[in-house]
Formats: sequence, C-alpha cells, structure tokens
Amino acid sequence: MTHKLPELKYAKDALAPHISAETLDYHHGKHHNAYVTNLNNLIVGTEYEDKSLEEIIKSAPAGGIFNNAAQVWNHTFYFNGISPNGGGKPTGELAKAIDKAFGSFEDFKSKFSTSAATNFGSGWTWLVKDSDGSVSIHNTSNADTTITCDKSIPVLTIDVWEHAYYVDKRNARPSYIESWWNLVDWEEANKNFIA
Ligand code: MN
Repeated sequence: MTHKLPELKYAKDALAPHISAETLDYHHGKHHNAYVTNLNNLIVGTEYEDKSLEEIIKSAPAGGIFNNAAQVWNHTFYFNGISPNGGGKPTGELAKAIDKAFGSFEDFKSKFSTSAATNFGSGWTWLVKDSDGSVSIHNTSNADTTITCDKSIPVLTIDVWEHAYYVDKRNARPSYIESWWNLVDWEEANKNFIA
C-alpha cells in the first residue's frame, strides 16, 4: 500500500504566534512528507509492502523502514494533538488521571516540560496511559515511539527534534515547549485516553 501524508486539520497560519506557518511549511510539508516518501520507497519489494503503518512499526527491525514508519506515525499523532483552539487544562477522565498521578495539573505540566527540555538530542516526550489506567511520562529517542509497547497507549506527545522549533525559536527548546502548551488539544488527548 502507498502511505499518504495526512492533511493538517487546521490552516498553516492558524497556530501562530505559538507555531508559525513557516515552521509548519517545513515540519509538515517537508519533514513529515519526506518520511512518507522515504517509507514508500523503502518498502517496495519487501515483506512490508502490504502492511499497515502500525504493523510495519511493530514488526520492522531497527533501521530505515522502522525509522521512517515510526516518524510518519509520530508526526501524525503530534499534529493531531495540537489545535488553534487548544491550550488551557485537561478535562474529563484524563484530568482526573493526571491529578491522581501528579497531584495537580501544574505539577504534571512542570514535570512534562522538564522531561521534554532534557530529552537529550532528538526525540519525543509522551504522556501515556498504562495498563492499570494510570498515566505516566516517557521520553523516547530519535524515531522511537511508545506504540511498540503493548502495555501503554499514547495520549499526547511533543516533538523535541530541533526541526520542530528551530525556525521560530532557534535553539530555545524550553520556549518552544512553553508555546506548545497553548496549543495542546485536550479534547483529543481525552479521546485518546478513554479509547
Ligand atoms: Mn518532527
């Protein structure tokens, strides 16, 4: 099957000033798109040619096919998790789980931000739902993704690769993380949590 670049659910300039149209032009239009193109090229003639994206991620060994497939999935999840109408605080069942695990939303936000700021090199910081229904924070490196772990379901992620923020923030990852909180789509996160 041919994998396709999913369209953004908002206009390119809708996330400004937190994330600029220029960042989205590069991050979605070039980086995310390149992972899709690379994946489609790499799977030709392999056992992965007819597999779904998730099947590829769960079965491919470390290397190009895994890296590009996981980056396609991670970016789609990331872009779906932010919205021009986002920000504020979590709601519903997710809000309760966050309070239970971290004491308060402010304590969670602080721990998550620190985790994202200190994730060394390129990677992703995740909020996941564990098999007992609780939530926890995890860092992954490079293309690694929490969907390879059967015991946890991703709820929310932030991309901390430099390409996610260099256009807007240069090297200032903590400033990007602060901006990102204004865009978090808590409705979408809550849907992921209760799914
Ligand atoms: Mn990225």
